[in-house]
Amino acid sequence: MSGADGTRRVRVAAVRGDGIGPEVLDAALPVIARAAAADGVTLDVTDLDWGGDRLLRTGHAMPDDAIDVVRAHDAILFGAIGHPQVDPDVSVWTLVLPLRKGLQLYANLRPIVGWPGVATPAREGAEVDLLVVRENTEGEYAGIGGRVHQGTPDEVATEVAVHSRRAIERIARCGFGHARERGQTLTLATKSNVARHGYGLWDEVVAELGEREFPDVPREQAYVDALATRMVARPESLGVVLCSNLFGDILSDLGAPFAGGLGMAPSANVAPGVDVPGFFEPVHGSAPDIAGQGIANPTAAVLSGAMLLRDVGCPGAADALERAVGTALRDGGARTRDLGGTATTTQAAAAVADALDAPA
Ligand code: ATP
Repeated sequence: MSGADGTRRVRVAAVRGDGIGPEVLDAALPVIARAAAADGVTLDVTDLDWGGDRLLRTGHAMPDDAIDVVRAHDAILFGAIGHPQVDPDVSVWTLVLPLRKGLQLYANLRPIVGWPGVATPAREGAEVDLLVVRENTEGEYAGIGGRVHQGTPDEVATEVAVHSRRAIERIARCGFGHARERGQTLTLATKSNVARHGYGLWDEVVAELGEREFPDVPREQAYVDALATRMVARPESLGVVLCSNLFGDILSDLGAPFAGGLGMAPSANVAPGVDVPGFFEPVHGSAPDIAGQGIANPTAAVLSGAMLLRDVGCPGAADALERAVGTALRDGGARTRDLGGTATTTQAAAAVADALDAPA
């Protein structure tokens, strides 16, 4: 999108949310905007007060026309969801999921990268750089099920997993595309030895697509339990990990310590090939235990901003921002308490901004 003066403008809807969400976005947004500006791009940020406070005040976490509101933007940057006075499932089902589902953001991308100066459980010298590509619309999170005989010893609950050829194929195409671009193997995580119907379909569809459209991309299939062990023992052996909604949720949290913890883990919810804004958010929640103290690590939010910039077509700004994060972590200025440092949220973000300005 170009402004009247010829400069490129990117419209960002900023949803600060709950807990540490506002703190990390307040710190991260100026740094993200600075990286964009250095690349000749102006971020036009709209603040949206959606989240737990709004839900308690008005009965709605976001307005009825929320999807139209965000559609008028190029991207959404989200802080965190989770209010102490709101049930966690209510928070998720009234804000995050309606947005992801309403926009049909079918791909959840969660990179796990080891950074210089950040201690992780990885073996010394092991270079961790993997990407979890998670199907974001169905699987065990389709919301289909029910309960009968509630509160009695005969109570039964069903939670029906949905796996459709269409959804598997589009997320697999996204995963293969990333594997090709990154020059890595695509590892498909399923459990088709036990859950034979749904995960059997995953195995078939991914193998067919790989042969048909991505014969140059190395691929393997792994059972998710064995893959979890491998991810902990040898995370550096993995490149792109393609998974269902549930497995992706679990595996990406499992991998987060290899990036330095939840404060270091960004994510993107996108719909490649569809003209809708992406939704970029740190993997962490609202962290009520540290909210309001100014000590939250803003790196996951900054790195989510880098993913946003790449998605809206500013790869130069995204690369520069990631490089600056690396420099600031290596030199120590961006190391918050969760990383064994002493930086506050604002100081950590300022260290990244300084690194951005420093000559290469
Ligand atoms: P929620 O209910 O919103 O999911 P939670 O506390 O269950 O909150 P997270 O918010 O993800 O889940 O936090 C898990 C742990 O990780 C907490 O101890 C929290 O302090 C820590 N943590 C999460 N994000 C950060 C961050 N950005 N910086 C520092 N510590 C963090």
